[in-house]
Amino acid sequence: MNLKLFVLALFLGMYISSGLQAQPVKKHGNLSVKGTQLTDENGNATVLNGVSYGWHNWWPRFYNKESVKWLATDWKCSAVRAAMGVDPAKGYIDQPEWSKEKVEAVIQGAIENDIYVIIDWHSHTIKLDAAKVFFAEMATKYGKHPHIIYEIFNEPVKDSWPMVKEYSIELIKTIRAIDPDNIILVGNPHWDQDIHLVADDPIVGYSNIMYTVHFYAGTHGKSLRDRSDYALKKGIPIFISESAGMEASGNGPINYTEWQNWIDWCETNKISLISWSVADKNETCSMLKTTAASEGNWKEEDMKESGIKTRELLRKQAEKNK
Ligand code: MG
Repeated sequence: MNLKLFVLALFLGMYISSGLQAQPVKKHGNLSVKGTQLTDENGNATVLNGVSYGWHNWWPRFYNKESVKWLATDWKCSAVRAAMGVDPAKGYIDQPEWSKEKVEAVIQGAIENDIYVIIDWHSHTIKLDAAKVFFAEMATKYGKHPHIIYEIFNEPVKDSWPMVKEYSIELIKTIRAIDPDNIILVGNPHWDQDIHLVADDPIVGYSNIMYTVHFYAGTHGKSLRDRSDYALKKGIPIFISESAGMEASGNGPINYTEWQNWIDWCETNKISLISWSVADKNETCSMLKTTAASEGNWKEEDMKESGIKTRELLRKQAEKNK
């Protein structure tokens, strides 16, 4: 091949590959909530699908831009979730600067690769003052980007809904003083199972708020979907920011029937679905093996069953949402 032809072929190759890469943020732009539906800048119903990184304090090696690129291009994620551990050693309270570095690598990777990113305060207890400082900083730094979604409380456990509600309103006020529009995800008691309590007493007076439901299909089935249906009927917007096919412990066998029931339910109701997690722990829900490189390029032999199946699911969802 002569040089001219080679250069032409090279540019053609680059053009084709950039055309093949989905660009969810270019397509959907600023997100908002209309009724119960996540909606894009053009007013179309929008569904985000992707994966959550595992706790940054335990799996920091995957928190880099390169792995985000791999998840955007090979796994076809339209969103990723940075799960910033708050309470454990090396979490945000213990090491705030290092923790932010890890989370921001994922945020910046998402911005560079044109996908949405959930900034997740991964805690099980209320830490109001620390959360306000953190989200004010994130909103100041990233609130202008359409890519950003704030998740202000991963999974409340024992705190009552009135307590979680009061905390959430404080956080919403903090973020909205800086960023008027990006989506904010609100948790609810018992690991985001108590969506019926939200339905009976929702937060009012703020826009672009959604509520999280988390499921582990080996443990949570129809009764949690019934609660979620009840909430949807009462006008509560739902976002599944964490989910998987096995038991709630993250271990045990994958219940494929119930997992599929949830996937179908999300599709029917146009609800976004994020799977847990990018980690290499010896447990069913960690999608990778210890052989997996920190920066992506994972081959089938680097992935566990949950990783292989989640990647398959994401690629199918991306095809449908094209
Ligand atoms: Mg904004």
